[in-house]
Parts: sequence; C-alpha cells; structure tokens
Amino acid sequence: MSERQPIDAEPVEYDCEDVSVLVVGAGAAGARAAIELAQRGVDDVLVLGKRGHGDAHTTWARGGINGALGTHDPEDSPAIHAADTLNEGHFVNDPAKVETVTEQMPERLRELDEWGMAYSRTEDGEIDQRFFGAQSFRRTAFAGDHTGESMLNALVDRAQELSVPYRENVMITKLVSDGDAVHGAVGFDMDTGEFVLFNAGTVVLAAGGHAAIYNRHTSRDDENNGDGAALAYDAGASLMDMEFIQFHPTGMAVDEDDPEWEPWSGRLVTEAVRGEGGRLFNAEGERFMERYSPDQMELDARDVVARAIAQEVAEGRGTENGGVYLDISHRDAEFIEERLPRMYERFDDLGVDMAEEPVEVAPTSHYGMGGVAVDDHGETDVDGLFAIGETMAGVHGANRLGGNSLAETVAYGVVAGERIADRADGPGTVPDDLRESLVEPHFRELRAMANNDGEHDVGAVLADLRELMWEHAGILRDEASLREGLDRLAAVRDRATDLDVGPVTSETFEFAVDLGFMTVAAEAVLRGALEREESRGAHFRTDYPDVDGDWRRNVHFDAADVGGMRLRTEPVDEPSEAVQAALDEGHELDYHQLE
Ligand SMILES: Cc1cc2nc3c(=O)[nH]c(=O)nc-3n(C[C@H](O)[C@H](O)[C@H](O)COP(=O)(O)OP(=O)(O)OC[C@H]3O[C@@H](n4cnc5c(N)ncnc54)[C@H](O)[C@@H]3O)c2cc1C
Repeated sequence: MSERQPIDAEPVEYDCEDVSVLVVGAGAAGARAAIELAQRGVDDVLVLGKRGHGDAHTTWARGGINGALGTHDPEDSPAIHAADTLNEGHFVNDPAKVETVTEQMPERLRELDEWGMAYSRTEDGEIDQRFFGAQSFRRTAFAGDHTGESMLNALVDRAQELSVPYRENVMITKLVSDGDAVHGAVGFDMDTGEFVLFNAGTVVLAAGGHAAIYNRHTSRDDENNGDGAALAYDAGASLMDMEFIQFHPTGMAVDEDDPEWEPWSGRLVTEAVRGEGGRLFNAEGERFMERYSPDQMELDARDVVARAIAQEVAEGRGTENGGVYLDISHRDAEFIEERLPRMYERFDDLGVDMAEEPVEVAPTSHYGMGGVAVDDHGETDVDGLFAIGETMAGVHGANRLGGNSLAETVAYGVVAGERIADRADGPGTVPDDLRESLVEPHFRELRAMANNDGEHDVGAVLADLRELMWEHAGILRDEASLREGLDRLAAVRDRATDLDVGPVTSETFEFAVDLGFMTVAAEAVLRGALEREESRGAHFRTDYPDVDGDWRRNVHFDAADVGGMRLRTEPVDEPSEAVQAALDEGHELDYHQLE
C-alpha cells in the first residue's frame, strides 16, 4: 500500500488566459447568459464546459418548458404561473426570483422560436402548450419529447451566429477568490492535461446541479455532481435550500449486478405511463396507493407517490430490486406503442414487453432545488461571482414545478447577462499574492493527486458516497439516520485522501475532483435536512411529519473560518400584490392532467 505523493514545492507550469467574463457551463443557462452578453456588446467572453459543445445535461430534458403564453388558455398569466410555483414550492421560494422567471417567460419562449427551436405546434402554427402536473393552465411548451435538446441546439446556433467563443473539455476545479471578490478560475484541459488559469473579472457559474450525489439518479453519472455549489461555497458564497431534493417517483429499479440492466438504474420512467393508466402494485400484489391517496391514486403529486413507494419498500413490501411494480399491461401493445413509444422500445430492448408484464420502478433523485444563494440579478455575496440555472437557489422552494427549471435557465441567463453588461469592466487580473497563496498551491495539489498510487478505488468511494446519501438523506429522513450519514460521510472523506488516480487526462482524475465537489454538496444536504425539523415539500422527516409555520425560512450554508460548515436561517419574503391576488383566487392545481 502506498500513500499519496507528498505535495512537492517544485514550480508548477500552467497556461494563462485573460477574459472579461468567464462562463463556467454551456448548458441552457450558460449559453443564454453568453448570448445576452454578446447581444449587449460585451466581447471577451469565454464559455467553457467539461464536455463537447452542445453536449450538456440540458439535452436530457424532455417534457417541456413553462411560460404563460396562453396558446390554449388565454386567462393564464405570469402572476398565476408564479402562484402555482409558490404553491408547489410550499412557500419557501423567493417570490421575487419566481416573478423574475414567470414575467420573462413568454418573451423567452418566443425568442427561442425565432432562433429555431423546433416547438411542437398547434394546427394554427402556434407554439403548442400542454398540461404538466400541478399547473392551473396549459403552459408547458415542448418539442416532442426532446425539448431540452431542441432548446440547446437553438441556443448554440444563436451563440455561434454571434461568434461567442467556446472551449470544450475544460474542467474548473477552483475559483480564484479572496472571499470578497472573484478574480478568475483555475482548472485543467481534459484532453491535454494542461493546467490553466483564467484571469476574469466576472465568473458566471452555470455548472448544473447536484442530483447525482445519490446512487439512484436520473442524470448522467458524470454530471450534476455539485460542481457549481462546491466551487461557490469554497469561494466564500452561501448555499441555500440544500435539504430539498426532488425524488421522481418512477425511476427504473434494476438488478445492479446485471451488466445489461445496471446502466439503466434510476433512469426515468415517464410520468406519462401513469398518465395513460399505469397502476402501482407492491410485491404482495396490492394496489397500495389506495391507502395513501384514495382519490388521486397514482396521479398524486410526485412527492406523495415517491413517499408511498419508499414506505412500501421500507416496510418490506418492495421487490428484490428495492422497488414496486408499474403495470400498464391492461392496455394492448398497439396503444402502448402509440402513446409511450420510447418507453415501450426501451423495455422491449431489455426483453420486457410492457403489454404483457409490469416493470419495476423506484423513486430516483431528479433535481436539487437548492444551490448557490444569489440576489435578484444572480450575483452571489462574492463580488463578480454569479450563479444561474440549476446551480442557483431560490426559484423552486421545497419542490420544483415540472417545466420550471428550463425556464429558470434562460430567464436568469438574461438577468445575469444584463447586470454584467451594465458594468463590464474588462479583463480581471489575479493579484500576485493570490497566485502564490491559492493558485499555485492548488495546482501542486492537483499534480500530487494525478498518478497517485493510493489505497482506495475512486469509483468505489464514489459509490459509497452515493449509497450513504440514499440510505441517510433519501425520501424518509430522521435525526438518528442523518447523524449516521454524517459519520459515514466523514469516513468517505478520510478515504478520499488516499485514492488510486490516473493521469490528469484520465477518468479517475475527473472523478476524484468530482468526489471533492460531491462531499460538499452531500454535507450540506445532510446538515440542512437535520436542521429543518419539519416536513415540507420534498423534505420529509418521519420524526417531524408535519409542516411547521415557523419554518417558513431558508437554511443558508456558509464556510466558517474555523469549524467547517455553518448554518443559519433567514425568513422568506412576501409575494407581490399581483401574485398574492392570484394565490387568493385559488386556481385549481390538478394533478390528473398529465399529458
Ligand atoms: C431526465 C431529466 C429530464 C428533465 N426534464 C425536464 C423538463 O422536461 N423540463 C424542465 O424544465 N427541466 C427538466 N429537467 C431539468 C433540466 O434539464 C435542468 O435543470 C437544466 O437543463 C439545467 O441546465 P443548466 O444550464 O443549469 O445546467 P446543465 O445543462 O447541467 O449544464 C451544466 C454545464 O456545466 C458544465 N460543467 C459542470 N461542471 C463543470 C466544471 N467543474 N467545469 C467546467 N464545466 C462544468 C457542463 O459540462 C455543462 O456544460 C430534466 C432533468 C433530467 C435529468
């Protein structure tokens, strides 16, 4: 057994690039921010991502994007959209941020249309809109079942038209910050292994979320690991609402030892299967939703169905793979093939005919409502550091309304872009003392991690982390288990100091960096869940099963100089008069309208 190489003091070589605005992340949020900057004449912007151009997690979004266009329901409005969002967020969303998104969305949807997004259309050629769970009107625009891909294509085309520079396959590992202001970021080129310092007066984190810190998740394994949250936290910004994780009720529950099935673990089984009549049964053949939600049954809200499944599994009525059965075999093959073509094909390829037998499903981590705390323009407490899209917190509260995260990406891309353009002040410079005290020591640490012949396999430690999050900060939470989770996290951190890592260009190196980000996000989720002694939205404490009015507050997480992560709470603001009026009108939230 060998230990990690000591960090040597030899000078470390790195490239330097000067830009005025560095956008970390090229999903919908990063692309839209860069477009806004270019349209407002800010040149010298660089967008980078750790994958190829156009290849971001955004492409996985299928169902749609919200905006009160009123194609079918002219009585819809941004204020009612905001009211629905606050309702679903159980009133811990930031009302001002919610309104920023809902006010902008009609225009944002139309502009995407102009830029070539391939929307599904009505017979009259209008942008079609459909119902989505918990929305009062049909306001979810979509492009077949590939909304995210179509949206990102349109944004990438527009960014290219404006000649926005983009750098592929660069991973940012640390921000250069003195705690008060950001001066740039550092990372490595994943193809060449070169270290790079970006001098930048403004940094926009659009690096996605943290839902993949759980072992059963709907994201790609190598994304949504909390990079944005951890980078901001390390730079001196606050995180917020990290305890709120949306678990989608129906991910694929598979035999993880079977190589054919394992890659499908947690992948979404669309809500539409239940919308088309799919029924849930436990391993004893009981249609258990009768006990949890006799009126809405399988079509109740995501958190209600997810909790019911988790309860069945916890009480020993689950399948061998830790799930329940979803059965639509009372419909014939023709119907299923026509209405659920992708699902039918996917299971058919795996040897399961949905028209003949049920499929196994279990809740799966889908979205982290929390993230980086920002002001109304997307700026953090650290001057010049912005966080937008899934990286930011505030819009979704305790539970996200389906279709609102794509909306947030473009809305906040514009808001942050406007703000930055108003005060664009040229390329930043990393002060010499920060180069010596922060940048170069960090590169030396990375160099020591590369080719480290340590005791622990990176993949195994990552798997342990994801498993502990599932077991201790999953759907049903309680104090004892959360505390145990924190102890297990400490053990994971300990093992992470002695990893077996390949060269800088290897996958193990990327995953070792991810592990560092994931432990920050995981700690915040565990601590936040322990702190919030009530149940609200997606956060359910079996030892505090009720909503507590005094907890209409947001939990913030700050890095303390001494003693690690510090938590504090802040009260939530009141909605505007227009939104309060929409709330008072009491529009019906209908969970049955899944299309
Ligand atoms: C299966 C699935 C279906 C969904 N369906 C919908 C839907 O129908 N409607 C909806 O509104 N939402 C949906 N969502 C959520 C939505 O897709 C995301 O919230 C949204 O796309 C996030 O966009 P983003 O631009 O913030 O981040 P992302 O698209 O995740 O982009 C992040 C970018 O950051 C880069 N990056 C990350 N870390 C680093 C780093 N350290 N260094 C450099 N670059 C980095 C990545 O390479 C990428 O370019 C769905 C999510 C999933 C998983």
